[in-house]
Amino acid sequence: MLIRTPKEVKEIKKRFLTHYPNAKTELNYSDLYQLLVAVILSAQCTDKRVNLITPKLFQKYPTIFDLAKAEVKDVEELIKSCTYFSNKAKHLVNMAKMVVEEYKGEIPKDEKELVKLPGVGKKSANVVMIEYFGKNLMAVDTHVFRVSHRLGLSSAKTPDKTQQELTTLFKTDLNKLHHAMVLFGRYICTAKEPKCKNCFLKEFCVKERDT
Ligand code: SF4
Repeated sequence: MLIRTPKEVKEIKKRFLTHYPNAKTELNYSDLYQLLVAVILSAQCTDKRVNLITPKLFQKYPTIFDLAKAEVKDVEELIKSCTYFSNKAKHLVNMAKMVVEEYKGEIPKDEKELVKLPGVGKKSANVVMIEYFGKNLMAVDTHVFRVSHRLGLSSAKTPDKTQQELTTLFKTDLNKLHHAMVLFGRYICTAKEPKCKNCFLKEFCVKERDT
């Protein structure tokens, strides 16, 4: 396993932050309720698809209280172009019910509470905390996982372990680095046919070295 030196980690970090100084989510939202719903929908689904779905969903259910009273089948109908729409519809309604019943309609502002909500895993909770509150947390989605491995920042088999490793390596600016790594993975270091010619981290690439 390749171990990056502190100097290399520092340089990789600097380049991510320089290339993506204002990186943020590409999900459209206007408040914490909308962000949480969009993040739940985005599991295994593209942000582009979620952004096509949410306007009608939020028009019909403008608040968490409206969503808590929704029929699952009506929510299903509105989100049916999303992957796993049936499960997600159940999660959304149950999440809203739990927020109304157990948190008086206030979405919790803590990742340890957020993960108690239906449909909200550790990654989703961290994404909400990173995006909405700018909290110094890392979240590992498919892009961050791939990029971390290609850059020799992690060799862990699971996103959870990779998250721990990145947190230990980078320590600060984790929220900004999360967004930067997502954008880098989405547009440059893509799963198929990465745009290596445009890569500003080429000399750190394990994939390049092995090919
Ligand atoms: S050189 Fe290519 S594969 Fe390697 S990190 Fe850059 S874009 Fe990704």
